[in-house]
Parts: sequence; C-alpha cells; structure tokens
Amino acid sequence: YRRPVFNFAAGPATLPESVLLKAQADLFDYRGSGMSIMEMSHRGKDFDSVIKTAESDLRELLSVPDGYSVLFLQGGATTQFSAVPLNLCSSPADPADFIVTGSWGDKAFKEASKYCTANLVWSGKPNNYTDIADPTDPNFLRNNQNPDARYLHICANETIHGVEFKTYPAPENDNGLLVADMSSNFCSKPVDVSKFGLIYAGAQKNIGPSGVTIVIVRNDLLHGRPQPATPVMLDYKIHADAASLYNTPPCFGIYICGLVFADLLEQGGLAEIERKNEEKAGALYGAIDGSDGFYVCPVERSVRSLMNVPFTLRTKELEKKFVEEAAKEGMVQLKGHRSVGGVRASIYNAMPLAGVQKLVAFMKDFQARNH
Ligand code: PMP
Repeated sequence: YRRPVFNFAAGPATLPESVLLKAQADLFDYRGSGMSIMEMSHRGKDFDSVIKTAESDLRELLSVPDGYSVLFLQGGATTQFSAVPLNLCSSPADPADFIVTGSWGDKAFKEASKYCTANLVWSGKPNNYTDIADPTDPNFLRNNQNPDARYLHICANETIHGVEFKTYPAPENDNGLLVADMSSNFCSKPVDVSKFGLIYAGAQKNIGPSGVTIVIVRNDLLHGRPQPATPVMLDYKIHADAASLYNTPPCFGIYICGLVFADLLEQGGLAEIERKNEEKAGALYGAIDGSDGFYVCPVERSVRSLMNVPFTLRTKELEKKFVEEAAKEGMVQLKGHRSVGGVRASIYNAMPLAGVQKLVAFMKDFQARNH
C-alpha cells in the first residue's frame, strides 16, 4: 500500500491501488489506441470488449446462473427504489412487502410507496436499527407478509447503521420473490444469486466509482410489461435487450468496475475476499468489544456488518477529538453519518488489513490517553 492515507469513507470509497494505477496508465492512451476509454464510442470494439469482459467476470465471481441478466445502469441505487416497483408491479395497486432494517431500506420503502402498495413487514426502527428479526422465525415475519405481494424487499447491508443480513428470508408471497439492495456489500462475499429475483447495487462502495448501478435480474421478470408510465431509462427489458447499450452507458465507470472484478478474481474470488473481510472486521469489532466500554458498537452481534462498523464514544466531544486525531495520523473519513453521529469505519474490500490494524492500534492509544 503506497498512499499516505487510509480512507474509511462509506462511499465513494477506497479502491484497490493496483486498479487505480492501471487506470492511470490506460488513461492517456488505452492500449495503443491513442484515446482514453472515456473518449471512445460505446459501440466501438474496445468498449465492447470492456463491457463484455466486465459482465463475464462478474458472472464468474458471483456464479450468476444462466437465467439471469446483468445490467449496467445509471442513476444510483436510489433510482432502483422506483424502478423495482415500476417493473415488478403492474399498477400502484399491486402490493409489495418491505423489511426495513435501516435508513436505506426505509428510503426504498417510502419511494416504492409511490408505485406500489408498500406493506411494512418488519421495522428495526423501535430499536434504532440495531438488530434484524430472525428471518426464519415462523411466528413473526411470516404472519406479516402479504400473500399477494409481488416481492419482498430487503437492504442486505445498511451502510449507516451497520446491520447486515447473514441469512435471507424466504418470502411467502405468491411468487416467492426476494429483492435486495446490496449496494454496500456487493461482491464482499459469495451470494447464492438463485435465491433472489433481483439484486441491485450502486458501484461506489465495493466495485468502482459512482455513476454505475448493477442490476442482476431473473429473466422471467423481464416480461416487458412495466407500469405504463415507466420511463425508458427505468425499463429493465429495454436495457436487457440492448445489453446495457440502449443509450450511452457510464463507459469509464464500467471500465473501472471491470478492473475491480478482474482484481477480485485474481485474489481468488469471493470466498477468499470474504475471508479477508472477516479477518478485518474481526480485528475491529474485537478492539471495540475489548475496550471495557470505552468504544461501543450498538449493533447486535449476530448481524454486525463486515463492511460498515459504527461505534460511539462517551461524549460527542471525545468522538470529534477521535476523528480529528485519527485524520492527523492518516486515517480519514471516520465521522459517522450526519443522521446518527458517532464514528463509522467503512472497511470495504479495498481496505487493506494494514489499514484496520493501524486503526486498532490508534484506538488503543487514544483510549490510554483519554480514559
Ligand atoms: N442503498 C444503500 C445501502 C446505500 O448505502 C446507498 C448509498 N449510500 C444507497 C442505497 C443510495 O445509493 P446512490 O447514492 O447510489 O443512489
């Protein structure tokens, strides 16, 4: 690791140095073409190879089954909050179920309410989004699901609150369809894609720059009957039929995602990435839990995120001091989200173990000086 800072930002977030250096080398003259990728036609042969390789590498990483399409879209995960009900519900009267485990799931629920009849199955809000109901508890989630729901929506990892599903609910709706926002844990571990009807993720946490949104969707859902007023840009079938080239895609961002996918494969794939992420998260949660209450992570242990680690200190003043002193030592972007305060260390795939070890050493030193 060569750079002078470790960047703990929640997104846009740190990217692998090898990827940035490769992009730097390609930027001025992509493979002898005399142009950069961002200057080329999205219908030319160079970009065609970029997007096709990115897709096949992603398919290999996640073992995406044949009956699924992979789309490279724009508009961020926020656009998917409306695109999902527009495509999966035939009218705003159609019901859809939501489990809300944090702010992002709540935003998805509220936005979807404009385009479907959104039913709240379970909310973690009464516990300040620090836990997740056992998705397999028969007396609980099941009773609240609408048997006619078109799908059940979850946010697989809540970026602000640091809660992550470790097992997934099996929806009891008419078609058993589970939809997940995986923006902040996409490609952080193996996922059985066949359990999902649709997965979406903004790129800017684990796999690239902002501006690219990945959608993985089961082909039978591309029936070509979205709600009548659905904009073309939100119509999955249009993008699937055009192999994500219906209009000009975010070419440079897709190119960077492709470099990240190749890097993840080179590291050994997602099982190996998960092992590394568990090691990093284990070190950080261990430091928090071993601090005699000097640092506190409010999230219930069984659902603690491997990606976003929120914690608090005794007072707001002490938290401010912590964040400032850490920044002086080259550990930046540790301030918690403005809506919840505290400290948050985002430790995505590209955060090296050395960055977490440095943070843990700093935490011990800071505690010794401020107990
Ligand atoms: N979902 C989750 C889990 C997120 O973390 C974010 C962004 N922080 C979003 C959705 C919104 O993504 P975007 O800003 O790309 O629209």
